[in-house]
Amino acid sequence: MSRVYNFSAGPAVLPEEVLKEAAEEMLDYRGCGMSVMEMSHRSKMFETIIQEAEADLRELMNIPANYKVLFLQGGASQQFAMIPMNLMKNGAADYIITGQWAKKAWQEACLYGDAKAVASSADKTFSYIPDCSDLPIHENADYVYICENNTIYGTKYKTLPNTKGKTLVSDVSSCFLSEPVDVTKYGLIYGGVQKNIGPAGVVIVIIREDLITEDVLPGTPTMLRYKTHADAGSLYNTPPAYGIYICGKVFKWLKARGGLAAMKEYNEKKAKILYDFLDESRLFKGTVRKEDRSLMNVPFVTGDAELDARFVKEAKEAGFENLKGHRTVGGMRASIYNAMPIEGVEALAAFMRDFEAKHI
Ligand SMILES: *Cc1c(COP(=O)(O)O)cnc(C)c1O
Repeated sequence: MSRVYNFSAGPAVLPEEVLKEAAEEMLDYRGCGMSVMEMSHRSKMFETIIQEAEADLRELMNIPANYKVLFLQGGASQQFAMIPMNLMKNGAADYIITGQWAKKAWQEACLYGDAKAVASSADKTFSYIPDCSDLPIHENADYVYICENNTIYGTKYKTLPNTKGKTLVSDVSSCFLSEPVDVTKYGLIYGGVQKNIGPAGVVIVIIREDLITEDVLPGTPTMLRYKTHADAGSLYNTPPAYGIYICGKVFKWLKARGGLAAMKEYNEKKAKILYDFLDESRLFKGTVRKEDRSLMNVPFVTGDAELDARFVKEAKEAGFENLKGHRTVGGMRASIYNAMPIEGVEALAAFMRDFEAKHI
């Protein structure tokens, strides 16, 4: 068996320890004679799995008691609709457009109400985070929406926007659990887990209790109401049980590594290796304004599309997978989530250095 260094933006690398543990438990989960995939979601065994997962996540993120944690399906994209359906009491919301995912969320919200784009970084191909200290937030806006880490473009908010008292809603899919967060600053935090936590099929929503009401847009399906899932402890219907089980293992892995403060330190160290190299390289260039750089997704280019393609091909042959940039932007992107070991990043930087020496 040999494992590659997987720099995919998602689904992405998972901790090897977690995968091994899951493999060991595959046929017989803790003496119950079946795998977690085969057990009832109403069983005592699974109840323990989901409750422990929630407790560990609460501990990792220091989630206050007045927030609910929901394990849902439909991916992050389903939340693009679920958020306006549940939160647009006035039928209005403000969106900050920092990339494709924010734009998609905004476009979806436009189907349900008066969603306004109050800032955007589209003018420079989303290579920066706009100044959000004094935005024209609308008086009747039910919430202000951001995509906190822009997976495709490699930008991240270093300070949250001034929402002028409005509820902040944040898509953290690609920076989930990468560093400590102050949950109290948000009304709703959500993310698909396939970027930085677990297997595709689970989306985690952390939502302040007062935002969970029966007062939703007319026609909102039962399955798309936060209240349905909050009342049932995420067990209204069959949840993505195996995915939740793996997420739970990753939470324990993160706790054992010292929690989110330790992860932040580790992630900063990893990202610095690549950014320092990009800053001094004569061949490769980072594409993001320095102060807005993501710790998780590092896009870069040579400036020559043919050379980019050659780099991706040679890197793959050397065991560095999925370095091709998003199909809409080209170039390269190294996603270096929690589970990417520092050795992988060092090896990539060394490979880039060699490539540069050969091609300049
Ligand atoms: C990947 C991604 C999404 C879409 O996730 P799906 O689960 O495929 O719907 C949304 N937002 C961000 C920030 C992402 O990285």
